[in-house]
Amino acid sequence: MKIHHLSKNNSVLNTFIAEIRDINIQKDSMRFRRNIERIGEVLAYELSKELSFSSTDVTTPLATKTTNLINNNIVLCSILRAGLPLHQGLLNYFDGVENAFISAYRNHPNNDKKFEIVVEYFASPGIENKTLLLADPMIATGQSLVAVYDGIKKYGTPKEIHLVAVIGSLEGIDVIEKHFPENTHLWIADIDEILNDKGYIVPGLGDAGDLAFGAKL
Ligand code: URA
Repeated sequence: MKIHHLSKNNSVLNTFIAEIRDINIQKDSMRFRRNIERIGEVLAYELSKELSFSSTDVTTPLATKTTNLINNNIVLCSILRAGLPLHQGLLNYFDGVENAFISAYRNHPNNDKKFEIVVEYFASPGIENKTLLLADPMIATGQSLVAVYDGIKKYGTPKEIHLVAVIGSLEGIDVIEKHFPENTHLWIADIDEILNDKGYIVPGLGDAGDLAFGAKL
């Protein structure tokens, strides 16, 4: 897997990441959502450089200009609900793509720290031979992305896969690296070292879904 850890190079992206982590700034849910969306926009721009382009003529009122435009058939797939602001950020730049949504949540059958990922809702177009963008804001254990990938396989075999994430743990990235094809790209804003025993990334930012949309029961 080719890992693109974008905050390793200094840019305005670091401001957006710092704001979603900051315990005071992140309380403003509108700002939190917008910052995740802005991170999605930066990730979209960076990953667009790996897509395929073909020469196209654009007619202006004065003449014709030949330019290179993206020619991939893209399907953008996100996990409900935390993935929505990241999805929107990617969609702001890849506005003509097809979309897939899946629900995944952690079920604790014995009310302890052990959990399994439950996938219920799945709405996807065919993905055969297309470019699949799989977005998950937080790669903690990596289990959600693996469950989504296993679920979406029945819709076809994509030509290439780009995983898009905001923050990941080293452990989670290790898991997905073993599960996804070797030519998969991971576009990730930042990587943290610790995954605690509740499956939260440390220092991380807390619960991205709750911060974006409010606490759940
Ligand atoms: N999901 C989150 O929102 N945060 C984590 O730290 C792990 C999973």
